[in-house]
Amino acid sequence: MIVIKTIKNMTTMKTKLFMAAALLLAGSQSACAQHATHAVAHRGYWKCEGSAENSLTALQKAYEAGCWGSELDIWLTADGRLVVNHDPHTLDGLEIEKTDFDKVTRSKLKNGETVPSLEAYLDAGKKLAPMILVLELKTQSTPERNAELARKVVDMVKAKDMEAQVEYIAFSNQVGTELIRLAPEAQVAYLNGDKTPAELKELGYTGLDYAYKVLKANPQWIDEAHLLGLTVNVWTVNKVEDLQYFIDHKADYITTNEPVLLLEMLKK
Ligand code: MG
Repeated sequence: MIVIKTIKNMTTMKTKLFMAAALLLAGSQSACAQHATHAVAHRGYWKCEGSAENSLTALQKAYEAGCWGSELDIWLTADGRLVVNHDPHTLDGLEIEKTDFDKVTRSKLKNGETVPSLEAYLDAGKKLAPMILVLELKTQSTPERNAELARKVVDMVKAKDMEAQVEYIAFSNQVGTELIRLAPEAQVAYLNGDKTPAELKELGYTGLDYAYKVLKANPQWIDEAHLLGLTVNVWTVNKVEDLQYFIDHKADYITTNEPVLLLEMLKK
């Protein structure tokens, strides 16, 4: 009886060991698949001749450089339309949230182009597939406008049948959770750096996208995020030693003003 029991225990133990090994192997395989680092051009690739941040040229240049993705920033105008710009003001000082679309889109960027509508930007981006467009929804002045921005961006992406070519990022948790609700299949990452990977998972985010100083101060968050199945993006990484740090620490995406440098480093 004792002998039979011992054999049974040993078999159970062997099964457990086997399962643990299989899980470990599966884990490391999926981790490997997840861990190729991809280059995201921050506001497009604009540090080159004729380009400017968030211009259509910067989008095209990101594609020509071979980036995996190109990031852009989106605001809602006074009359409720969508434009691509980083700052809350245009270069000539118009406050986008308080100015109508027609006027905002006549404002010039540094390269002489005008502020693009999101519609024009998506139309141009669609032709550059499979490059991913990383859509940052800027925090608006009221919760109502945040909700309107999220709804209008998701609707436009859907109308253009580009759901598989975009990912969303936001500093505002209100905007982020609204995106998760409106587009449950979409990739949505949080930018603000003040939530743990477990908190983001709980809220329904698919990834984190944190400032490099935040991730350097909390390097365990990269592995924690991966174990939870979250992606890790990091911004805005421009120096060789910082780029190398996040390649070595297996960030999934690096958002950079130096995509050509990063792409060269990734070839090695
Ligand atoms: Mg941005």
